[in-house]
Amino acid sequence: MAPPPPTKKGNVARNHRISSRNGAERSAYFARREAAGVLRRVLQDDAARRATASIKSLVYSPSVRNKKATFALVCQTLKCLPIIKDVLVATQILNSKWKEIAMAGAVEKFLTLHKNKLEYALAKICARRKVKKIEDLLQNNCVPVASKPRYIRINTLKVDAEVVMQELGKTNIMVSRDDIIPDVLSLASGLDLHDHPLVRNGSILLQGKASSMVAVALNPIPGWKVLDACAAPGNKTAHLAALMKGQGKIIACELNEDRLKTLEETIRRSGAPNVDVVHCDFLDINTRDPLFKEVRAILLDPSCSGSGISAERLDHLLPSYEKGEDAAACKSDRVKKLAAFQTKALLHALSFPAVERVVYSTCSVYQTENEDVIKSVLPFAKSLNFELVTPFPQWPHRGLPVFEGAEHLLRTDPKEDTEGFFIALFVKKSGKTNRGSRLSSAKKLTRQKRYTPYPFCKLSAFWFHKRLTKQGSKKIKH
Ligand code: SAM
Repeated sequence: MAPPPPTKKGNVARNHRISSRNGAERSAYFARREAAGVLRRVLQDDAARRATASIKSLVYSPSVRNKKATFALVCQTLKCLPIIKDVLVATQILNSKWKEIAMAGAVEKFLTLHKNKLEYALAKICARRKVKKIEDLLQNNCVPVASKPRYIRINTLKVDAEVVMQELGKTNIMVSRDDIIPDVLSLASGLDLHDHPLVRNGSILLQGKASSMVAVALNPIPGWKVLDACAAPGNKTAHLAALMKGQGKIIACELNEDRLKTLEETIRRSGAPNVDVVHCDFLDINTRDPLFKEVRAILLDPSCSGSGISAERLDHLLPSYEKGEDAAACKSDRVKKLAAFQTKALLHALSFPAVERVVYSTCSVYQTENEDVIKSVLPFAKSLNFELVTPFPQWPHRGLPVFEGAEHLLRTDPKEDTEGFFIALFVKKSGKTNRGSRLSSAKKLTRQKRYTPYPFCKLSAFWFHKRLTKQGSKKIKH
């Protein structure tokens, strides 16, 4: 169980104790603290059924130092959580004094004091369930995750594929090039490259294959002004920059302040010279603002249920996870609210005056967030002369056939293709793509950390959205 944050007084006392420990003990201690922080966030969000950041994204955020040990601890704790709860209840040690102790930062000492009691309670639980050891208890709590290949994307702003393949080959990491997505390599499952020098220096990104299809589908022309509407952690922003060879301008918009920092770090590490990070609500952007009125392409990858990557997100480790709950989940209030936001954001993206290409993507497998969203904006899109175009025509999995034109949509299958993704591409019929032209028209943009949003939304998009949803526009917590 994650303890509440320690007080300053508790910190001072503990840091003194820690400074006298040896290196291995110190790093184990910090991993426990970092794991406690991740667990607190994950469990609080899960209890509130919020769209939470995944365990992996929290562990691999820049603020966590000891990532491998922290990840292992978080996963092991979550697997054991039901047993830990049973043991704590049986010992009744979490009495009224517990909060005081936790506030003073003395949790470990407290638990060590009660070690015998805790071990005795665990032994009793094992005896009651007729098993010999804790591993046997755990077997009932485990959901096996099939081993799947991993993918990495080469950051062509820094390095090319041959160099990466040679470098990885030197340490016996065998990779092969993906046959459909350029600059994507597949490697054996189970390999952890988070701390690899090529990852740390931004030469490769740990980005999945399906996620790497989105920017390629948008196909931005070097020199264009492009908007990444919901950008953090920034993998697709960095991909756009690489596809645009660092030319033109990308505006990366992000609402969440914490995630903004991760976005900035991804961009810094990628070496992309042409990205301006903007802290704002995409829905509040005035499409006629001089900063945005020349935007030619928009990548819209909004908050979604993440149902297509639930295995990858390790959702099966969370207390709220129930096997076979998908049918109910896709109709839940949360998914309906997400779909209302996604629809509104897509209508807004299509309203930018100079936009010629809009790609919409989710890592959800639910029709509510995918085909239904596209179907509902189609009349508005058509009224602006947009049509659905087929990204990756050779790709076998297309949209669910729930409206005419759904064959243009792209789905990836969580079982066959590692992750469940959805991509829709709108292209303006009359829009000439005019490769390479008007490069010089891009005005000098200044990086804005605090952008003051305009309370403006294109009237027609607003009207369409009002007709489509009676729920209005609740902000989505991520
Ligand atoms: N495209 C990103 C990538 O590949 O790295 C992932 C984007 S994630 C699915 C969605 C992001 O949209 C979250 O970081 C969330 O905070 C942000 N977001 C949600 N609502 C937003 C809004 N109204 N305006 C801007 N960003 C928003």
